[in-house]
Parts: sequence; structure tokens; C-alpha cells
Amino acid sequence: MPAQRPEIWVFGDYRNYFQNRVTLQLLSRATDLAEKRGALVCATVFGWDTGEWVGEYIAHGARKVYLVEDRRLGRYSCDLYVGLMERLARRYRPEIILVGATSFGREFAPRVAKRLKTGLTADCVGLDIDENGLLVQTAPAFGGNLLTRIVTPQKRPQMATVRPGVFREIPHDHGATGEIVRIDFPEDMPPDRVRLVSSERTLPVPRHLGNAEIVVCGGRGMGSKGRFRNLYELARLLGGEVGATRPAVYARWADEDALVGQADKHIRPKVLFSFGISGAIQHTAGIVDAGFIIAVNKNPKAAMMKMADVAIVADAHQVCLALIKEFKKRLRA
Ligand SMILES: Cc1cc2nc3c(=O)[nH]c(=O)nc-3n(C[C@H](O)[C@H](O)[C@H](O)COP(=O)(O)OP(=O)(O)OC[C@H]3O[C@@H](n4cnc5c(N)ncnc54)[C@H](O)[C@@H]3O)c2cc1C
Repeated sequence: MPAQRPEIWVFGDYRNYFQNRVTLQLLSRATDLAEKRGALVCATVFGWDTGEWVGEYIAHGARKVYLVEDRRLGRYSCDLYVGLMERLARRYRPEIILVGATSFGREFAPRVAKRLKTGLTADCVGLDIDENGLLVQTAPAFGGNLLTRIVTPQKRPQMATVRPGVFREIPHDHGATGEIVRIDFPEDMPPDRVRLVSSERTLPVPRHLGNAEIVVCGGRGMGSKGRFRNLYELARLLGGEVGATRPAVYARWADEDALVGQADKHIRPKVLFSFGISGAIQHTAGIVDAGFIIAVNKNPKAAMMKMADVAIVADAHQVCLALIKEFKKRLRA
């Protein structure tokens, strides 16, 4: 039973910070597209214990959420998720499906498109609606030398994956409301062909960053993943946790759970070490309640240095190594 009003679906890819951010960015763009097309913005959420995400997507623009909650969906399974999306799309006939170009989205979306026998534009950097009401999908072509504009005139749904960071998310609206369409997990779904034997995170996850008494925070000025790793050693010696700025998280020097600032975590350590961090407002918004700040930066004029109680003008990596050496010595004494 197709919906009365055309629907634009955004796939809820919520397992980590990056995936969730791109989902919110897509909801924002879908809201603009929906206005032009007279359509309804919807999110699909598959998983287990997903209440938090349903609320988050409604607060960020989804007016309807198609929700399938089942323990079998508790971990990402390409097979099950593709099968579910195919069934839902056949049943409700969305006009457009948007998926973040995350590692999962890149695996998931083409399979859904194949099953629905429709087209897919991968890695879009722009989306619009043309005068005929078609989705215009802008994507790099020929090794990124050209931008192509692609439309899908006949097949439905029109499908695109979109690179993270292309669109800006709209602010969280606590008062927003939306319809939740609960759908039972289909019992005739073929079982997952993949069995998860084990999984392992590659970066240390800070478990108590929000209430740690000592936090060692690192930014782009640390220079490399190898150098950043020394901050973990320093934090371990001090009994603290490691935090990071957005560039450090984006560079995969730190887990996304380590991100400190307006976009994620507010911290209240008694002592905060800040290494190679400029002090952008989006970061300092998360550290305003820090007790005592020791900042290390090559640039004495950096905003972080002005905010610090002790400002050390030096190479962050060298100071970190010196502190590790000193603390090790003292701990041995
Ligand atoms: C909507 C939005 C939300 C955002 N949310 C967040 C957020 O939650 N958290 C966050 O952190 N950012 C956030 N940002 C990004 C933020 O604006 C800054 O870009 C970011 O905080 C800068 O990180 P940084 O200080 O590591 O890098 P940079 O600004 O590049 O600063 C690096 C610093 O290192 C110093 N440096 C370089 N080499 C050395 C060296 N060898 N030794 C010592 N110092 C050195 C430089 O002098 C410089 O001050 C957000 C941005 C936007 C637009």
C-alpha cells in the first residue's frame, strides 16, 4: 500500500558517530527536497532497542519513522538489512531512498538498488529536485575531474548514497513530532548467511570521559596517529582518559567516542591537558567546566593558550614524551 504523499526515505545508519551524523545531514537535505517536491521525510530504523535513534531522527526532521525492532537486527547484517529494505520499499513505494556513503551504506545501498531493479548514484556531493520533480544527483566522475548530474526518469525509487559532511544537519528540535510505523520482523526472511565470530575495536574507547578527573586531550597539532598514541600512555600514567578534537577523530587517531565539544561530549575534569589544540569554540564549548587547564601549543596566540591556566609554547609531541618520562620516573621512585 503505497503512501498517499510521495515519501523521501533516509536510511537510519546509527551505529557510530560518523554514521549517525551523515544520517542527520541527509534528513536535513531531505527536508529541503521534500519542500520542493511536496513530499514527506521519513527515516527507516532497523535494530534493537532503538528508541533513542527514533527520537533523534524525528528531532532532526523525520516526520515518519518506519521502525523494525527485533533482536535479530541487534547487529548490522547486510543480508537482513537489505532484505528488509527491499520488502519495505516494495510495500510502501518511497520515491527516493537516501543512504550515507559510509562503509556499511556503500555495501547496503547497491544491493537494495539491485533487488529493486532501480538505479543508484554513489557518493553524491549534491542533491536537488528539478522542474520535473526528479531527484538530481550530483556525483564526481572520471576520477573526480568532472561532476555529473544524474536523474532516474523511470525507475523507482530514485536512490543515492551521499558522502558525509556534504550537508549540514538541522539543529535538534525537542518539540518535533512524527509518526512511528512499527513493522514486525518478517518470519519468512531468509536467515543471515554471515555468522559473526568476533569483533574488535581498533581504537581505545574512552569509557568514563564524561566524568574523568583527568583528561588528556589531543588535536591536529599532535601531527600523526603514532604521536597521538602517546597521549594514551600519558593518560594511563595519570589515571585519566583521552579526549580528542574533531580533526583528530576524523583522522582516525582517536575513537569517535573521544570527541569533545559541542557536537558530542561535555567534560568536567579537575585537570585537563590540551595538546596541539587551537581552541575553536566548538571544542571549547565542551571544556568550559574543566578545573585547571594546561595547554601545549606552538602558537602562543592560539585561543586555547589564552583559556589555559598554564600555557606551554612548545612542540606538543615533545612535551608529551617528556611528561611520560617524568611521570614514569616519579611512579618508580
Ligand atoms: C558544526 C560544527 C561542529 C563542530 N563540533 C566540534 C566538536 O564537537 N569538537 C571539536 O573539537 N571540533 C568541532 N568542530 C570543529 C572545530 O570548529 C575545529 O575545527 C576543531 O576543534 C579544530 O581542532 P584542532 O584544534 O585539533 O585543529 P586546528 O584548529 O587545526 O588546530 C591545531 C593546533 O595545533 C597547533 N600545533 C600545530 N603543530 C603543533 C605542534 N607540533 N605542537 C604544538 N601545537 C601544534 C596549531 O598551532 C593549532 O593551534 C565543529 C565544527 C563545526 C562546523
